Amino acid sequence: MNRQNLLQQLEETKRWDIIVIGGGATGLGVAVDSATRGFRTLLLEADDFSKGTSSRSTKLVHGGVRYLEQGDIPLVLEALRERGLMHNNAPHLVHHLSFIVPSYQWWEGPFFGIGLKVYDALAGKLNLAPSRLLSREETIARIPNIEQENLLGGVEYFDGQFDDARLALALAQTAVDQEACVLNYCRVTSLTKANGLMNGVGFVDLETGTAHTAEAAVVINATGIFSDAIRLMDDPSAARAVQPSQGVHLVFDRSFLAGDSAIMVPHTDDGRVLFVIPWHGKVLVGTTDTAMENPDIEPRAMKDEIGFILRNAARYLSRAPKESDILSVFAGQRPLVRPPGKGGAATKAISRNHEVLVSDSGLVTIVGGKWTTYRKMAEDTVNHAITLGGLDDNPCMTATLQIHGWRGPNAPALPEGLDVYGSDAQLVEELMKSEPALAKPLHPRLPYQLAAVVWGASHEQARTLEDILSRRTRALILDARAAIEAAPAAAALLARELGRDEAWAKNQVQEFTKLAEGYLN
Ligand SMILES: Cc1cc2nc3c(=O)[nH]c(=O)nc-3n(C[C@H](O)[C@H](O)[C@H](O)COP(=O)(O)OP(=O)(O)OC[C@H]3O[C@@H](n4cnc5c(N)ncnc54)[C@H](O)[C@@H]3O)c2cc1C
Repeated sequence: MNRQNLLQQLEETKRWDIIVIGGGATGLGVAVDSATRGFRTLLLEADDFSKGTSSRSTKLVHGGVRYLEQGDIPLVLEALRERGLMHNNAPHLVHHLSFIVPSYQWWEGPFFGIGLKVYDALAGKLNLAPSRLLSREETIARIPNIEQENLLGGVEYFDGQFDDARLALALAQTAVDQEACVLNYCRVTSLTKANGLMNGVGFVDLETGTAHTAEAAVVINATGIFSDAIRLMDDPSAARAVQPSQGVHLVFDRSFLAGDSAIMVPHTDDGRVLFVIPWHGKVLVGTTDTAMENPDIEPRAMKDEIGFILRNAARYLSRAPKESDILSVFAGQRPLVRPPGKGGAATKAISRNHEVLVSDSGLVTIVGGKWTTYRKMAEDTVNHAITLGGLDDNPCMTATLQIHGWRGPNAPALPEGLDVYGSDAQLVEELMKSEPALAKPLHPRLPYQLAAVVWGASHEQARTLEDILSRRTRALILDARAAIEAAPAAAALLARELGRDEAWAKNQVQEFTKLAEGYLN
C-alpha cells in the first residue's frame, strides 16, 4: 500500500464507479465491498485511516448484550452473525474473549444467566462457546482481584475482541489488494454535480496542497460524526442526520486485572454498561455515553467522565485504580443516527442501527452502526449505490473474503507485537534480520519493535509520527508516557524512511508530544 503508486493510479484513472469519502471502519468497509464487486473505487480520507472514531472503540466484536436487554433482537442477531464472519475472515486481528458478569445480589445470577443463554441461542452455529453460571470460588479463580465483599458468583459468556486501528489498516490493504485506490491525507472540500446530479468531488492532497477533482457514478459519504458537513455541501438545507455521543476509556497496568477474563458490569450507577478488559498487555476500562453538540476528530475526556469510570471500576476491583494510575485516556465519538426531534438527550437509549440516506442529488450517506457490523453496513450501502448509479448488479463477496494478513486457524502463534501483522509478520521478521537494529524494542514498556516504524512507512501508508505511535502501533493509547519517550527514535527512523530531514523529525516530535499530553490525565 504505497502512497506514491496510489497517487499514480489516481492520475491515470479518468472516472471511478464509486468514490468513498471517509477512511474509518464504514468507508473502508465500503471500499472493500465495492472493489471486490469489480467497481473502480477511490477512497479519500482527510486525516489518517481510523483517526476518527474507528481507533477509539472498546475493541469488542459483539452482539451487544445491552441491546438484548433493550429488546433490539434484530440488531443483536445481525451483530452476532457479523461477529462470526469477522472472526473467520480476520482471525489474526479478532479473537474470543471470556467475559464475566459478577453477581452481588441473589437474583443477578439467574437473571443474567437466562439472558446470556438467549444470547448463545441467537448466535446459532456462529456461537463462540456456551455461557455458564460460575460459583463464587470459580469467579474468584477467574478474576483473582475482583471485589470479593458480598460476591455471590458470576456468569461467563464469550464475545470477540480486536485491534480496531489495525483492522482498519488491514481493510485498507485488502481494498488496495483488490485494486481500489485508497488515500489518506486527502480532504474532500466540495461535491460536483451535472444537471443537479452528483458526479464527483473536489479534494486537496494535504501533503502537497494540490487541488484535484475526481468523477464517479456514485459518491458515498462515510464520514461518521462529520457526515452532516458533507450533506450540507450537497444541500445547504439538509437536516442533521448524526448525533455524536462521546465515550471515554482509561488504560491501566495489567496488574489491576489478573487472569484472562474481562469483567462486564451490566448496570453502572447511572444505568450504563462498563467493561474492564485485558488488551495488548494492559487493561482498558470504559466507557461513557455523553451527547455532544459538535463533532471533534480529537475529542478530550471530561473530568466527570474520568471520575465516573474510576468510581465504578473501584466497585468491582479489589484494588481501586486511582487517577495517578492512569497510563492513557482516550475519547471517541459515536456517529449515532439522530432520532427525529430528539436532538441531544439520552444517547445510551439511541439505537446502534445503521441507515443509508440518499439525497435528491444522489449523494449516498451511511450513518450509525458499529465496528462489528461494518461489513453488513458496506453491503447495504453498495447495494444502494448499484441501483442509484446503474452499476452492474454484481453480488457482494465479503461474507467469506479473507482480510489482508489472514492466516489459517491452525497456523502457529506469532510473537507478541508481530501477531497483528498476520501473514505479513514473516516479512517484518525478514526486515529485522536484514537490519538487526530494527529488532530493538520501540520502548521497554511497549510490545513493539522499531521495525514497526519502517514497515508502517513502507507498507501501511504511515505519513506522520502520530500515525506510527497511535495507529500502526497502539503505543499512545497503551501508555502515553512511554509513547512520548519513544517519539525521538521513532521520528528519526520515520524521517529516514520518508526522505525527510532532521527539522521535520524534530517538528514531528513536538507535535506528537503536544497531542500525547492530552492523553495523560
Ligand atoms: C467510545 C466508543 C466505543 C465503541 N466501542 C465499540 C465496540 O466495542 N464495538 C463496536 O462494534 N463498535 C464500537 N463503537 C462504534 C464504532 O467505533 C463506530 O461505529 C465506528 O468506528 C464508526 O466508523 P465510521 O467510519 O463511521 O467513522 P470514523 O471512524 O469517524 O470515520 C470517518 C472518517 O471520515 C473522515 N472525514 C471527515 N471529513 C472528511 C472529508 N471532508 N474528506 C475526507 N474524509 C473525511 C474522518 O477523518 C474520519 O476518519 C464504539 C464507539 C465509541 C465512540
